Amino acid sequence: MIDFETPVLKEYPIIPLIQPGAMAHSKPYVAKQDLQEKIGFPGELIDDWQEVAIKKMGELVSKSRALMVFLDTCVKCGACTDKCHYFLGTADPYNMPVARQDLFRDVYRRYFTFAGKHFPKLVGAKDLDKDMLDLWYSYFHQCSQCRRCSVYCPFGIDTAEISMAAREILNTIGVGQKYCNEIIGKAQTIGNNLGLPEPALADTLEGLEEDIEEETGVKVRLPLDEKNADILLVTPSADFFAEPHVDGLIGYAKVFHAAGLSWTLSSHASEASNFGLFIGSYDNMQKISMRIRDAALELGVKRIVFGECGHAWRVAYNFLNTLAGPFDFLDQNYPIPQNISEVTYDLIQRNALTLDKSANDDKVLTFHDSCNVARGSRMGDVAGGQFIIPREIIKATCNHFYDMADDTIKEATFCCGGGGGLLTDDLVELRVKGALPRMEALKQVVDNHGVTHMVAICAICKSQFSKVMPYYGFEMDQVISLHQLVGNAIVLNRSE
Ligand code: SF4
Ligand code: SF4
Repeated sequence: MIDFETPVLKEYPIIPLIQPGAMAHSKPYVAKQDLQEKIGFPGELIDDWQEVAIKKMGELVSKSRALMVFLDTCVKCGACTDKCHYFLGTADPYNMPVARQDLFRDVYRRYFTFAGKHFPKLVGAKDLDKDMLDLWYSYFHQCSQCRRCSVYCPFGIDTAEISMAAREILNTIGVGQKYCNEIIGKAQTIGNNLGLPEPALADTLEGLEEDIEEETGVKVRLPLDEKNADILLVTPSADFFAEPHVDGLIGYAKVFHAAGLSWTLSSHASEASNFGLFIGSYDNMQKISMRIRDAALELGVKRIVFGECGHAWRVAYNFLNTLAGPFDFLDQNYPIPQNISEVTYDLIQRNALTLDKSANDDKVLTFHDSCNVARGSRMGDVAGGQFIIPREIIKATCNHFYDMADDTIKEATFCCGGGGGLLTDDLVELRVKGALPRMEALKQVVDNHGVTHMVAICAICKSQFSKVMPYYGFEMDQVISLHQLVGNAIVLNRSE
C-alpha cells in the first residue's frame, strides 16, 4: 500500500509547481493470462511486441483520420497544460495533456514520419522500447479520458482518443489492465459488471419493491424479463444494490409507475456500463452492446432507456446504433436510445408527474456534470440539452440549488477523478489527488451557500465521490443520484 498525503484544499485555481516523477509509481494491476485471453487478447507480453505494437499503431492511425490529425497538429502552445485534474492534483508533468500525448506522438513520429525515421533526435522521435512501454502503462492509466483538455485546445486535440488508442495497443501486445478487463469479461459472460446472476437480481428487485411499499404504501413494481413491456431499462449494475445508486433506481421505478409506463429490466442485459470504451476496443464494446439488442428483441420492447451512467450514455448515444443496430423493430417516435433524464424531463414538461419540492427541503444542492455527458454526448433535442435537462429536473424537485463556479461546470466540468477505467483501489492515490479540483470547487459552494449534497448522474462519479470525499473532510453520503431527488419528490397515488 502506497502512503500518500491528501492534497490540501486551496483557493481555486492553483497551478502546482511541477514535480517530475511524482506519479511514476502509479500503475494499475496487470490482467492475468486467463483474463486477457477471455476477452480476446494475448495472455502476456508477446515476444515480437514492438513489431506488433507498431503495426497496430499504423492500423489505428490509418483507420482514424481524427487520431492522425491529433498526432500531426499540436503546435505546443501550452493551452492544455494546466487543464487536467491529474496534473493539478499530482504536479507530475507527464499528467499535462500535451506531455501525455507526446508519449504516443514521439513513437508515432519515429515510425510513421520521414523526419522521425531518418533524423529521430532532431524531431524528438523516440523508439518504442521497454522504458517507453512502462511510461505508457503508467501514464495512459492516469487519464480518465474526460476530454476536458480538448475543450481548451485551439485545435480540439482530444487526449482521450490518444489514451484509448494507447490502451488498445497495450492490450494487443498482452499488457491489459486487470480492473477493466475483469469487468468486460463479466459483462460479456454474465451480463453485468458485478457478475450478479438472474436469481440474485430477482431477489434484489423483490426486496426493493417491499422497501418502496413500506415507505410509500404503494406497490411500485421493478419487473425483470417481462415480455412485451414498452420500455427496456438498461442501467449500471451498481444501481441494484449500492448507495447512493439504488435510490436512483427506486426513483426511475417511481417515475415509470407514476406515468403509467410499462417497463422491464433484463437479466441478459443487466448492465449499461461498457468498459470496452476505456480500453479502446470496439470488438468488446460491440459484444456488450449486442446483449442489449438481443434482450430488446427477445422481450419485444418498443423503447430502450438508459439509467444514470455517464460513459454508458456516451457509448449508447454515439455507438449503440452502429455497433448493434439497426433498431428498426423499436418505436421510431422515440430517440433510440433514450436517457432516463430525458424521459423524466419530458414528463415534467408535460405535467405528467406530481412533484412536492419540499420533500427535499432537508438538502441544499449542487450538481456535478459527468464528463461523458457534458463532453462526450448530448441529451434532448436542443443545444446544450445535456446541461439543461439535469438542472431543470433538480429545480423541479427541490427548493435549494446552487451551481458551482462557471469555469468548473458544463463543458468545463472537472472530472471526478475515477472515470476512464480508473475506479479501482490499486489507483486510489491517483483518484484522491485527481479529485482535488472538483473538491475545491465543491468547498467553495459549501462555504458560500451552505450546500449539503452534490447530485450526480453517473455511477462512476457517485462511486468515486463516495470513496474520495472523506479524504477531503466531506461525508460520503453527501453525493446523491438525480433520480433520488425525483423519487423523494414524486407524489404517488395511494389508491393504486
Ligand atoms: S482527457 Fe482528461 S484526464 Fe486525459 S489528459 Fe485530458 S484532461 Fe487529463
Ligand atoms: S492545447 Fe492543443 S496544440 Fe496546444 S499544446 Fe495542448 S494539445 Fe498541443
